[in-house]
Amino acid sequence: MKSGFVNIFGKPNAGKSTLLNALVGEKLAIVSSKVQTTRHRIKAFLTKPGEYQIIFSDTPGIIEPKYKLHERMMQNVKSALEDADVALLLADATKDVNETNEMFQGLRLNVPSILVLNKTDKLKVNKIEELRSAFSQPSSYKKIIDVSALTHKNLDTLLSAIIELLPGGEAFYNEEELTDMPTKFFVSEMIREKVYELFSEEIPYQTAVIINEFKEKETLIKIQADIIVHRESQKAILLGEGGKMIKQLGTSARKEIEKFLQQKIFLQLFIKVKPKWRDNDLQLKEYGY
Ligand code: GDP
Ligand code: MG
Repeated sequence: MKSGFVNIFGKPNAGKSTLLNALVGEKLAIVSSKVQTTRHRIKAFLTKPGEYQIIFSDTPGIIEPKYKLHERMMQNVKSALEDADVALLLADATKDVNETNEMFQGLRLNVPSILVLNKTDKLKVNKIEELRSAFSQPSSYKKIIDVSALTHKNLDTLLSAIIELLPGGEAFYNEEELTDMPTKFFVSEMIREKVYELFSEEIPYQTAVIINEFKEKETLIKIQADIIVHRESQKAILLGEGGKMIKQLGTSARKEIEKFLQQKIFLQLFIKVKPKWRDNDLQLKEYGY
């Protein structure tokens, strides 16, 4: 039996959440084209009884260009990476691979790492080959693998490479468990994802979602959630004319949650104004940050 921790690192938008979802086959990390949607570290488990257990972590986009300038922050990134048994260093192959590669190389990691070139569904074969050879020498990567998290291209190859690098050991978690986060957390993330999809500018970044009620009834699950905003004006935008927007938000969130839970739900959403919730330690704790 092999088991261990695998952290997925990369710049915001490289496709970390999409890759995590594709590898574990569940929609565990919310995906959005807007950056910084992942505020929490999510652990997701992939277990083949008697063979392996991989504990994947999706990380908020902690590797940002500006980090390059700060020695100490780079140290933090490095130690977070070395916390794992295997590091997946994810780069968006359609842009800034060089910059990402330089950052990864600059870390001088003491953990086996795989350079994953993502979004290669958008590239021609010769361009992929070009990238692969550009980064194969000199390099500290154990492997360079081109994938598409979106179309699942080469994910089998990636999985085999990860398993090969895992240390021997017993499973850390029960084999039927998928994640260390409660169902409620995923439900609130799915509502937040819809806020990202429907609203622009500052709204998504200034919104928190809390689940107040999660009750399993005979034929459905009743869920009541609060959407917390800073200002009355934001509440008005979320509501929309005659409640049009909140209705649309509720419908699309409900469909998503039903798909995830494989069960009918009744979803009730309230919008609450709490000025400066982001600066308030107590409230942040209450909302799980
Ligand atoms: P993260 O910020 O690193 O977690 O990135 P996300 O997983 O949220 O993905 C950012 C965007 O890139 C989303 O719009 C994804 O649909 C898109 N994306 C992710 N992987 C791929 C891929 O393999 N191919 C293409 N074409 N798009 C992808
Ligand atoms: Mg993400």
